[in-house]
Amino acid sequence: MLHFSTSRTATSQSRNSVGTMKSVTSIAELRAARAKLPETVGLVPTMGFLHEGHLSLVRRARSECACVVVSIFVNPSQFSPSEDLEAYPRDTPRDLSLLEAEGVDLVWMPDAAVMYPPGYQTWVDVKEVTQPLEGGMRPGHFRGVATVVAKLFNAVQPQKAYFGQKDAQQVVVIQQMRRDLNFPLEVVVVPTAREADGLAMSSRNVYLDSEERIAATVLFNALNAAKDAHLAGERDAEKLRQIMEDTINAEPLAKLQYLSCAHPETLQELEKVETGALLSMAVFLGKTRLIDNLVLKE
Ligand code: AMP
Repeated sequence: MLHFSTSRTATSQSRNSVGTMKSVTSIAELRAARAKLPETVGLVPTMGFLHEGHLSLVRRARSECACVVVSIFVNPSQFSPSEDLEAYPRDTPRDLSLLEAEGVDLVWMPDAAVMYPPGYQTWVDVKEVTQPLEGGMRPGHFRGVATVVAKLFNAVQPQKAYFGQKDAQQVVVIQQMRRDLNFPLEVVVVPTAREADGLAMSSRNVYLDSEERIAATVLFNALNAAKDAHLAGERDAEKLRQIMEDTINAEPLAKLQYLSCAHPETLQELEKVETGALLSMAVFLGKTRLIDNLVLKE
């Protein structure tokens, strides 16, 4: 069941010290504005409520591309009915002024009714790599993600698309889809932006109360405890998982949902770490679900 919000048709254009940023909503407006952009075009897909993590993607795109397109779309099809679609934080005026200050050329803010008009029935279903980890906890999530990203790629036709390492499985799924569906673009992966105490930046961090916010550093601490053990020579994946679990369980406000030490490409759980691994986890702080990850390299 998709939730449609009321339609918004306004097109705005404003000027700043960097240049002219245009924002559009419909596919027709987007295609017309895109056609005027010189290549290379870099696309940064977001769900808005922007923070420094998003802006690090925008800056990377700005440094590598002639033009930067940012999409803002809280994609209903990647939320299950029990998840926080309606409550997902939104602040469009603030997002637009942040993007304008970064010198973004074009912002696309489609409505759900633009992306999924009545009668919509085409879905992108990536198989194996969507099954474990986030896919195991959030059935249908990556079907929604892959579908909306395919639609963004088709509409914007960027030469480069920027995604955060923060959502490690999303990167694997998008790379798989890009190969399988022959999208002629490069996927660029940008490192996770963190707060000073190591907490990965996330739009959902605003849900944390002050005690939960302090306790939330436990994800980064658990990942680092396993990384230190790996650096010291530990190659038994189960021991690395145990180290992370013990760290999470030592924090009374944290409730572990899953953790993993997996192959960085197949995302299958490892017994031995031989050529690198993806450490990842989902942890509840109160009602807020946080994810984080770290890549172990040989
Ligand atoms: P979202 O708005 O949460 O869908 O995120 C949009 C993009 O920003 C995705 O590619 C995310 O992986 C990326 N992103 C979100 N948080 C961070 C972060 N802390 N560091 C780097 N990239 C991030």
